[in-house]
Amino acid sequence: VDDKSFRDVLGRWVTGVAVITTVWKDQVHGMTDNAVMSVSLKPPLILISIDEKASMLAKVRAANNFAVSILSSEQKALSQHFAGQRQSKETVDFDGFMGWPVIKNALAYIACKVHDARQAGDHVLFLGEVEHLWARSGRPLIFYQGRYHALQDMEDKK
Ligand code: FAD
Ligand code: NAD
Repeated sequence: VDDKSFRDVLGRWVTGVAVITTVWKDQVHGMTDNAVMSVSLKPPLILISIDEKASMLAKVRAANNFAVSILSSEQKALSQHFAGQRQSKETVDFDGFMGWPVIKNALAYIACKVHDARQAGDHVLFLGEVEHLWARSGRPLIFYQGRYHALQDMEDKK
């Protein structure tokens, strides 16, 4: 299996886009991540996947916690920023959520402590035990075939 075919085929799996944040040595670090999944209700667990080359990896390991901000359709530039694809001198304002730094105006927040971590090929999978959750209504940012999209025919669920 070559890398291009892998990315081409896996790019057919539609995802949302999140920014993972953590704090290490009083510094907030953020990284764009679309590998996020719900794992268990009891206990409440989610999973994220971090490339072993990402500077985020050592920070999540050291802090032993992370927050997930699910981006809205207006936040494509923030996704590009936290993927290192957009050169911007602007500083990013984080919001505080139950004491955790998160992306301002995101659709939802999930704050976790690390429950378990496992090497998987060139990534590390982190199971996070959910400590705090919050969501608002609005449209999500969608990632499909390496491009950003928005839902056209969405009705908000109350
Ligand atoms: P860096 O490259 O150092 O940081 C990333 C960017 O965030 C830099 O521009 C940095 O300036 C900025 N930044 C970090 N902290 C702050 C702060 N406090 N204030 C302002 N700016 C800050 N990679 C994965 O491992 N897993 C995934 O699931 C994944 N999904 C992705 C999904 C999408 C849609 C995209 C576009 C990329 C995805 N990536 C994923 C790739 C990943 O986002 C990039 O490789 C990223 O650059 C790795 O970040 P890093 O931790 O090495 O940090
Ligand atoms: P892309 O076409 O590379 O992504 C399509 C799909 O391929 C992704 O949704 C993911 O499922 C898979 N994928 C891509 N790179 C991967 C990797 N290194 N490890 C595991 N799965 C991967 O999209 P793009 O817009 O060209 O991506 C921009 C950058 O972000 C690239 O460098 C890409 O490698 C990286 N990225 C990494 C991951 C990840 O590590 N899980 C996911 C998405 C994008």
